[in-house]
Amino acid sequence: MMKLKGQGACPGIAIGTISYFSGSEPDISFRNTDDAAAELARVEKAKLSAKEQLSEMYEKALPELGKESAEIFRIQSALIDDRDYNRAIENMITSQKVNAEYAVAVAADNFAAMLSAIEDDYMCARSADIKDVSHRIIRCLAGSGEKKFHEGKRIICAYDLTPSETFRMDRDNVLAFVTARGSSRSHTAILARIMGIPSVIGTGRELTPECDGKLAVVDGTEGVIYIDPSPKILEEAEKKRAEEEQARSLASSFIGRSTETKDGKKIPVYANISSVSDLESAVKNDAEGIGLFRTEFLFLECGEFPSEDVQFEVYRHAAETMNGKRLVIRTIDIGSDKIADCFDLEHEENPAMGYRGIRLCLDRTDIFKTQLRAILRASAFGKIAVMFPMIISLSEVKQIKELISETKRELDMTDTAYDKDMETGIMIETPAAVMISDILACEVDFFSIGSNDLTQYTLAVDRTDPAVDNYYDPYHEAVKRMIKLTAANARSAGIRTEICGDLGSDPKMTEWLLKAGIDEFSVSPSEILKMRKRIGEIALREKETEQ
Ligand code: PEP
Ligand code: MG
Repeated sequence: MMKLKGQGACPGIAIGTISYFSGSEPDISFRNTDDAAAELARVEKAKLSAKEQLSEMYEKALPELGKESAEIFRIQSALIDDRDYNRAIENMITSQKVNAEYAVAVAADNFAAMLSAIEDDYMCARSADIKDVSHRIIRCLAGSGEKKFHEGKRIICAYDLTPSETFRMDRDNVLAFVTARGSSRSHTAILARIMGIPSVIGTGRELTPECDGKLAVVDGTEGVIYIDPSPKILEEAEKKRAEEEQARSLASSFIGRSTETKDGKKIPVYANISSVSDLESAVKNDAEGIGLFRTEFLFLECGEFPSEDVQFEVYRHAAETMNGKRLVIRTIDIGSDKIADCFDLEHEENPAMGYRGIRLCLDRTDIFKTQLRAILRASAFGKIAVMFPMIISLSEVKQIKELISETKRELDMTDTAYDKDMETGIMIETPAAVMISDILACEVDFFSIGSNDLTQYTLAVDRTDPAVDNYYDPYHEAVKRMIKLTAANARSAGIRTEICGDLGSDPKMTEWLLKAGIDEFSVSPSEILKMRKRIGEIALREKETEQ
């Protein structure tokens, strides 16, 4: 038996067989080959696997993203057969005697450069696609790729996983995630929590591909994986799993109740979601609404920008599913660890402090306004509010409001329906936003505290860097003061403060947060009922008789 300790990113016990994911950065370095025919055969086989994967992705995306968006996987599949692209690969292998991986990578670079030189949006998009499919073919050449995720129910182990790799997994077939690297504050970990999949992050390098196919127990609460567990560990895990089941059924007795403190103050508990597939779990756990819809994952899934209509369908579907309950849609927070191929962003030394979130949106107003139009149109079908990430200044909020007004005027011109009173809120997740929260509060309808980023920026600790994990302290007095100040300024201006960062689902902090002035919570769907129970145990007012 081997025991590896990391950080628990999502609680829960899983018992099952490991499938090791070999990562998305295979070796493409140059090698000479004497056997060109064998290399050509490898390319053909890899192309077939890549096409199979794309066809599976098309089927998966169709119900989730709609036909127009899913179509990208068909376009990419067709590119694999492009005559010129294939000739370039064959020529390199036969005349220069290079290995298949290198030939595919170089042919892709040349082909992509040629396409992007043509001043045409369509060709530019195909340039990104050719790179994307070539990476896929190279992954297949290396024997790794998404297809391994879908073969039965498995514990997925990997050196590391990007948020988009995690998002693309077939969640019904993943029992648990365990990675050698990473941090429990990264978006990979956040996705695992939203999906409610037990996970352990950062076990260290002893987690190697050799574990593939072995039996394991994952304890996401303790942050441990046991590979080839002893009978005793297996027995204990079964017992813990039964206890968890019991706790879940106790929590389910809270379904159908409203959330209120012991002394009767109503405190809505909403769900955080990252795709429409999370709606089912939000509804099942009786969410009082959606407090944070991280829309950037819609962009991570597609090889190109989802069109206004595709986005509209997604937001409308979410609004209708919530059936009159509040749905807070956060505009894209691309950047940092959430890199979407379609943006083709430059490498940055310090991406968390770089070109991300609202900065990108206020620069690329074409993309931003498309999303605003889609959200506004969907607002005619439910109780939608819109929220903006990474705010640091009043001028950003003013620009956003101007763009919203402009979009509304355009919709009025075509008599397109939308909710004229749609609420507007901002994330408070930078120290700058906290310090001017009295000014910002006069401009918006609500605040939502992003404690994950607020902790990162207040303490100057990269939330994705395991090397500084012990410095990441969301209970730090500085972070608490930031939260208190924000809620006090919101209250003075007569607006509400929600918390949608991970600190909001920490039961140790619930009483403190309520007393600091938090009015609403938004947590992973699986945490909602526990929060409802926890809030019910807390009295906010002192007993009158005791005064
Ligand atoms: C946060 O920063 O706390 C937050 C909710 O946003 P994200 O985790 O998506 O950055
Ligand atoms: Mg954030």
